[in-house]
Order: sequence, then structure tokens, then C-alpha cells
Amino acid sequence: AGAGLLGPAEIRGLAATLGVRPTKTLGQNFVHDAGTVRRIVRSAGVEPGESVLEIGPGLGSLTLALLEAGARVVAVEIDPLLARALPATIADRMPGAAERLSVINADALAITGLESLGLARPDDGAAPDPAAPAPAAPTRLVANLPYNVAVPVLLSVLAALPSIRSATVMVQAEVADRLAAAPGSRTYGVPSAKTAWYAAARRTITIGRTVFWPVPGVDSALVELTRREPPATASSREEVFAVVDAAFAQRRKTLRQALATLAGSPGAAEAACRRAGIDPALRGERLDIAAFAALAEALAAPEA
Ligand code: SAM
Repeated sequence: AGAGLLGPAEIRGLAATLGVRPTKTLGQNFVHDAGTVRRIVRSAGVEPGESVLEIGPGLGSLTLALLEAGARVVAVEIDPLLARALPATIADRMPGAAERLSVINADALAITGLESLGLARPDDGAAPDPAAPAPAAPTRLVANLPYNVAVPVLLSVLAALPSIRSATVMVQAEVADRLAAAPGSRTYGVPSAKTAWYAAARRTITIGRTVFWPVPGVDSALVELTRREPPATASSREEVFAVVDAAFAQRRKTLRQALATLAGSPGAAEAACRRAGIDPALRGERLDIAAFAALAEALAAPEA
């Protein structure tokens, strides 16, 4: 493994020394290939000095590659054993880089804003101390996400941290297809539509399962996300997402049927579709996020 990075022997050695037994429930599959983590960092376009959020650093494979590229890393790890061990691993393998790393032992789903990352003091009315400026908010998310919670973690981080302008995430290949799917395609669904609220998503390289220990049962792929403005609408994100959920709850149903409960009746659903300029005989899988936003607004508007 390149200077400081973790290869198969290092991953096994670290796990043995720390007493780590990878668990499926936490999606613990560790990358033991320096080429792979460097590819991810290169693909993300990480700049020296940039502040990067990493979710689930695990034994530190990707963290080391991010630090090697000169990034400042805020790493959020749910497993206390792994979170505790990470600073020492970095100090050991990349002396000098440790000061650019901060590790937080927390569930990524509990990130509610910069405060939860320790990056902004709670607004207690006190004058800010000019000698201690708030550390930089992360502008990028780079992560090999835990597979079982990849979509909720991605959506919740994008919602909680507007400072994040782009993301490069490794997920299960099928999930990558869904995140990047366009309306009308077979894999288009709730994750695709909700992700599109925040960002444009593109699936890039496929990564085989053999770069992991333990070897998972699926291949992985990278998804590149670029933040964009949500569709202009008077409806809130929650209202729009409720329409997305309803439209896909019964995939085979037309909008007229699928939105009947939300609208009060099939007739009201049909009227709302017409107000939004959408054919009520379509299925949800044909609509992009802007159309869902228009539908949410029409559903909330009083009958003409
Ligand atoms: N980044 C490391 C690598 O590439 O080798 C490990 C990736 S492993 C697929 C996922 C990591 O996410 C594990 O270290 C796991 O403990 C952690 N994790 C799982 N659920 C989490 C959650 N809800 N919040 C934060 N970390 C989580």
C-alpha cells in the first residue's frame, strides 16, 4: 500500500490489534486497496486545505487518502471503538496530518447542522471571540457509506449541511443506479427524486467487491453529486417529499389513484394534476422533482 495508506496486511493487522470484528449491521466493509481510495479522492477533486466531511471512516483507509491530498477532515463514526482508534492510526501512519483531522463519535443520521459537528458555537448571544474563529464548514462530502443506511444518510447530510456543495460517495452499485436515475427509467424511484431536490447526481466508476475486507456480496459504484437550487415552489420540502412518497407507494398506480388519499379523493387528485399541468393517467415514475413540486403546490391550493 502506498506511503501511509492501508493495504490488506495493514487492515488485518489493525483490526486484530484493536479487536475489531466487522459487523454487517453497521455495514463495516473496509477498503484495503490504496489505488481505490486514491481514485475516489482524485475523482472528488479534493483541494489542499479544503474542509471535507467523511461519514464512517472505519479503520481510516479513505481518511488517509483525503489527508494525503491535503484536506482537512471531519470524520463522523458511529462505532466508538473505531472512532477512538482513528487519531492514533493517523498519527502513526501520516505524522503531521493528525492536526487536520477531527473525529466525532456519532450517528451520521443525527447530524442536524454545523453545531453537531462542533463547527459552530450555539447561538448563545455572546460576542464571537475573534481570537478563536469558527473552523471552516465542510464544503464537500467524501465517503464510503454504510450500505444499509446510505440513502437516508446522504439525504439527511444534504439537508442538514448547506455548506456541502458537492459529494462523492461510494455505495452499492444498485443504489448508485437509483440515485442517478432519470425519470422514466426502470431504476427511477423515491431515492432518485429526493436526491434531485438537492443535487444533480451522476454514477461514475464501478468498484469491484474484492477491494473490501470482509468481501461484501455486491459490487459498488461511485456517485458524484453537485448541489443545485431546489425547484422554485411555494411548497415546503416536506410537502413535496410527501407527494413523492405517495406517488411511489404503489408503483403500478396512476397519479389519480396514488394521490387520492393525500388529495382527499381520486377526483381531487385528478383536479390537482390538471392544475399542475400533469396528466393524471401518468405514473409517478415519469415525473421529475420539479413536477412533484408543482403537484405539491396544486394539492395545497384551494379548488378553483
Ligand atoms: N471508510 C472506511 C473504508 O472505506 O474502509 C469504512 C467504510 S464502511 C463501508 C462504513 C463505515 O460507516 C463503518 O466504519 C461503520 O462503522 C460506519 N457507520 C455505519 N453506520 C453509521 C452511521 N449511522 N453513522 C456514522 N457511521 C456509520
